[in-house]
Amino acid sequence: MGEGVLTPGFVIQDGALACEDVPLERIADAAGTPVYVYSAGAIREQYRLLSRALAPVTHRIHYSVKANSNLAVLRLLRGLGAGVDIVSGGELYRALLAGFTGRDIVFSGVGKTEQELREALAARILLVNVESVPELELLSRVAADMGVVAPVALRVNPEVTVDTPHRYTRTGERGLKFGIPFADAEDAARLATTLPALRLDGLDMHIGSQVVQLTAYQQGLRRLLELYDVLRSSGVESIRYLDIGGGLAVPYDHEAPIDLNAYAGEVLPLATRSGLTLFVEPGRFLVGNAGVLLTRVLYRKRSGDREYVITDAGMNDLLRPSHYNAFHRIDAVRPHTARIIADIVGPVCESGDFFALGRDVENVVAGELLAIRSAGAYGFSMASNYNSRPRTAEVLVDGNRFAVVTERERYEDLVRQETADPHWRTA
Ligand SMILES: *Cc1c(COP(=O)(O)O)cnc(C)c1O
Repeated sequence: MGEGVLTPGFVIQDGALACEDVPLERIADAAGTPVYVYSAGAIREQYRLLSRALAPVTHRIHYSVKANSNLAVLRLLRGLGAGVDIVSGGELYRALLAGFTGRDIVFSGVGKTEQELREALAARILLVNVESVPELELLSRVAADMGVVAPVALRVNPEVTVDTPHRYTRTGERGLKFGIPFADAEDAARLATTLPALRLDGLDMHIGSQVVQLTAYQQGLRRLLELYDVLRSSGVESIRYLDIGGGLAVPYDHEAPIDLNAYAGEVLPLATRSGLTLFVEPGRFLVGNAGVLLTRVLYRKRSGDREYVITDAGMNDLLRPSHYNAFHRIDAVRPHTARIIADIVGPVCESGDFFALGRDVENVVAGELLAIRSAGAYGFSMASNYNSRPRTAEVLVDGNRFAVVTERERYEDLVRQETADPHWRTA
């Protein structure tokens, strides 16, 4: 238990799990449960490993904000030299608040609104990753209206098959909603060079999430470069950036971490030959294993032939097991030797509210703390208020210090935007 390989920021100290040098029990006492706990050291280490692997080429690491959008996490990554990849006006707002400037920001997403495009151009962002011809046309109109030139990368669907654990996390296959179909990309690129107020700066792809099959990056990249060559040979000179998206997998169980040298081997030779600046957009890779969801056992219960461990965290706090059928390791904060087979479930009124089913887990009793591992990415950022449950606190740990970086919501927060007395207007 507590093997350092999986989650370097989390270790057993004095008989209980700690985040770096802060006991998780101390955090539960100070901030209550459920609570997300992140290791700053683990995030720094992942960033360092990735930038070292990419060091041979001119590159930029744009952290994908949606993985974990906490302002303090953004500030930490900014301090390391990262840019950001955003997918909404809300993420733009967060990024600017965390201190990123327009030059640090690329904007992805299949359904940007006119309002969001305006906000992005007003912030002078580095690149808009455009995913359709109508979006190109809209962006051109908005930019012309604002008297600016919009920097564009075309997000191309490279139509490669990737083997992610769930079909919801595949985004680079033929026929999906993401990107411009490969067959249409050349025409779209030409349109981008002729529409007013646009500059075609880059080509982009994002093939999926939790990708372990690294050859898919090379396959996708080859297609982007095929397009690049065609465009260049017909006089398109403006392309400078090559964005290969995010998706790098992290271990959730006992899998080996992905081999960054192998990743570099797939992409760097081609990137180098192109002479373009390489962009990557990692989310999960930087933060996934840097966080746990700390939860307290409320009850034990038997029903039929099933044993239940009922926790104070629910699917509204961590949706991944329910939504993606995702596996998360779950460990008692104070390790036990006795084990049981149990379903670990939350209090939400849904049979889909589970963290693990039929899991071999320590024989924990009411009052004990559990750490749901690998919850740093797509954890809090996907949390909701379902069942009118206030969202959890978030805590950042750095060495022997910790700070509450998101306060737990209060009941008042749940109804802040609502009214029980409608102010009726007539049609
Ligand atoms: C979600 C997303 C990412 C990050 O994916 P990870 O699997 O977390 O690395 C990168 N780029 C785009 C366009 C995305 O939508």
